[in-house]
Amino acid sequence: MTAVRPRVTSVMTTPSSYHPVLMDLELRDVVCVVTGASKGIGRATAVRLAEEGARVLLVGRGAERLEEAARETGGVPFTADVTDPDAAAAIVSRAEELGSIGVLVNNAGTSFSCAPDALTDEDWRDQYALNVLGPMRLMREAAPRMAARGGGSIVNVCSSAGKRPSLTNVAYSVTKAAQLSLSRAWADLHAADGVRVNAVAPGAVGSELWLAEGGLADQTAAAKGLSREEALADQAEKIPLGRFGTPEEIADVIAFLCSPRAGNVTGAAWSVDGGAVPIIL
Ligand code: NDP
Repeated sequence: MTAVRPRVTSVMTTPSSYHPVLMDLELRDVVCVVTGASKGIGRATAVRLAEEGARVLLVGRGAERLEEAARETGGVPFTADVTDPDAAAAIVSRAEELGSIGVLVNNAGTSFSCAPDALTDEDWRDQYALNVLGPMRLMREAAPRMAARGGGSIVNVCSSAGKRPSLTNVAYSVTKAAQLSLSRAWADLHAADGVRVNAVAPGAVGSELWLAEGGLADQTAAAKGLSREEALADQAEKIPLGRFGTPEEIADVIAFLCSPRAGNVTGAAWSVDGGAVPIIL
């Protein structure tokens, strides 16, 4: 039953010869909401949950990419900006048309490289709206419904920058720390209802956030006077495993936390960062 993960040789990818051993996550027909599902970690999570037989509602702003992701997963696209105060009610209400909501993955998020002194008040407000208010409203809406059906699971996709602030974008780091706290608070609020709430804290991941043209790789390169390749190698060098994570690796951990197989895990904040944050938390 053991799958041996071969040694990784590139800073970006895991070898294609790795095939995970199947474990039934008991998510068949469970209604799952994934925000930020058109790209990167959210898309990989939607794919993973759909592979488990879940009914997935994919949420994002850009309709075209979202519909493409929904086609790939057989899920249902729902266009919404999670920072809109009315979005949470609309998202959960659409999800409940598929059945009672069992899983919520608060994944929508973004960052950009900016010196601390150059961040505007609006940048701080935007990051707070995206990383704290958006996920809070969705949990406030979804958790009581999960409680009413006998339980459920919520996963908040935070960041290693929430555990150890990164100066790449301090507003991102500080609000991701707040999201970790929010996740723990909601875990305590709903543990007695059978609703588990956990966080994952990814380190650098090779999603479009980093790799798209003009993304963090290009921004870091410009800020440090490096080439794009040097900027990526520089980042990978800071990670004990020596490489970026893949969206699929983060999705695997998210899917496990969503699953009843993680039934004794709540209030946790699992690092999935190649060892980047040097603390046992
Ligand atoms: P991507 O940029 O690849 O994808 C982000 C997704 O979020 C897209 O689907 C995007 O779609 C959606 N999104 C962004 N803003 C909103 C919004 N206001 N409302 C609804 N959807 C939104 O990023 P990643 O996959 O890399 O990141 C996913 C999460 O992981 C984020 O929370 C990020 O902070 C976190 N993370 C990422 C790391 C990394 O290195 N990549 C490291 C640590 C944490 P659209 O633009 O169409 O709305």
